[in-house]
Amino acid sequence: MLNVVIFGAPGSGKGTQSKKISEKFNLAHVSTGELCRRAIHNNTAEGVIAKSYIDKGELVPDDTIIDILDSFLEKLPVDKGIIFDGFPRTVAQAEALIQIMKEHDTKVSVLLNLEVEREELLNRLLKRAETENRSDDNMETINKRLEVYEKQTLPVIEFYRKKRLYKPIKGIGDVNDIFDRISDILDELK
Ligand code: ADP
Repeated sequence: MLNVVIFGAPGSGKGTQSKKISEKFNLAHVSTGELCRRAIHNNTAEGVIAKSYIDKGELVPDDTIIDILDSFLEKLPVDKGIIFDGFPRTVAQAEALIQIMKEHDTKVSVLLNLEVEREELLNRLLKRAETENRSDDNMETINKRLEVYEKQTLPVIEFYRKKRLYKPIKGIGDVNDIFDRISDILDELK
């Protein structure tokens, strides 16, 4: 079973590439950011907690995000691989994911890291702020999210590198060219 983690800073294109990957490789797309926004919209207890962190550009606490993820995974068809978009974002989440996959009798096949430099990330996020109505796409929160990414999320790379599951991808250029680079890697793993 193909289970993919797509990784990268805010604005690196995880969401865009995840959609294309899920279609081509028939994977269930799980975006923890989307799950949080849905929980907030539905005003659930977890949504209320998530909102207080997201609006500040901080990470939602590990136990809350893992609960949100767990309840979503319970409802997924068991015979389908998964693309995780925006999870894991801390080493504790990476550890938890091993356990979660074990419970589903499977494991992570690869982590794809979309590499994009900071200046380009800032440009993309500011552009997105003009078109999408996301409460966390403003200058102050964007800077905070990039800082959080560097401090709390980057160590996840080392975790997967040690397990030899790490694949860097050049995340700059045409969306379809980036997707081709990803497809080449996933075609070999299928
Ligand atoms: P982006 O990658 O642009 O930050 P996401 O939709 O992936 O967009 O995430 C938006 C926000 O949701 C994050 O800034 C964070 O507050 C919260 N979030 C999403 N996934 C996680 C996670 N795995 N752990 C903690 N917080 C998360």
